[in-house]
Amino acid sequence: MSMYQIIDGKKISQEIKEELKLKAAEMKAAGEERCLAVIQVGNDPASSVYVNNKKKACAYIGIKSLSYELPEESTEEELLEIVKELNNREDVNGILVQLPLPKQINEERVLLAIDPRKDVDGFHPVNVGNLSIGRPGYVSCTPAGVIELCRRFGIEIEGKECVVLGRSNIVGKPMAMLLLRENGTVTVCHSRTKNLKEITRRADILVVAVGKPRFIDESYVKEGAVVIDVGIHRNEDNKICGDVDFDRVAPHTLAITPVPGGVGPMTIAMLMANCMQSL
Ligand code: NAP
Repeated sequence: MSMYQIIDGKKISQEIKEELKLKAAEMKAAGEERCLAVIQVGNDPASSVYVNNKKKACAYIGIKSLSYELPEESTEEELLEIVKELNNREDVNGILVQLPLPKQINEERVLLAIDPRKDVDGFHPVNVGNLSIGRPGYVSCTPAGVIELCRRFGIEIEGKECVVLGRSNIVGKPMAMLLLRENGTVTVCHSRTKNLKEITRRADILVVAVGKPRFIDESYVKEGAVVIDVGIHRNEDNKICGDVDFDRVAPHTLAITPVPGGVGPMTIAMLMANCMQSL
């Protein structure tokens, strides 16, 4: 048992947003403006919350946002038409299609249609490929946020045993690539991993993106590790919790991210950084 530090993602994301706001003002003074187009198909309530938060963050920083709200029954062709038009618009520098999309629309075809130079979510295979071969490009916002959180909190990654739990295209895989880029020694675990605890207990830095509420208790964590919790869930009392059982795990860590207020707010800050093409 030791005193642990809470990694305050809310505070750090606010610092990033202030920096971006200054940068946007400077750009505006020089006659330049950033513009993000956000497309939502249907009105899934969770998606609407995310889209609204993104628009609010744009307004706060001084990024122009264009909003496209298409009906649930829209066709793939209709959506692709809008993406194409936005690809060609010189005043638009970021295009974001809110996922998930309705069943009749093929997500992969839509993401592939976005010009990689405007793919601020970093989901296009060109950007994924650039990340994996160490070329510059847009990086998926949540894992990029984890790296920025570590950097600003003073957590060194170089030479550390890093374990990522989860291998999704949006979080786990790009997370592993980024930790590798920072010279960590990286292991990726998933649902077919054997002896999971043995592996997670090796981690100096454990990043959890398993998508299961409070899956990780103290038995998965080495004494004095840094634990980063990417999960977001609502528990029985409608409270937000993570993939990590914070109360049980925190006393065994050196530092840990809370949920809410950890990785979550960093994701949107990194989206804004991507829109500004900064950081
Ligand atoms: P996902 O696509 O469901 O991926 C979960 C991963 O965990 C998969 O790779 C899966 O393995 C692995 N897994 C599942 N059960 C396991 C088990 N029992 N043992 C070992 N591995 C297991 O989830 P995601 O999209 O990466 O998201 C993960 C979490 O982060 C979710 O809670 C999500 O809500 C949250 N999230 C937060 C943000 C944010 O802004 N903070 C952004 C995105 C996601 P297989 O590959 O073998 O199936």
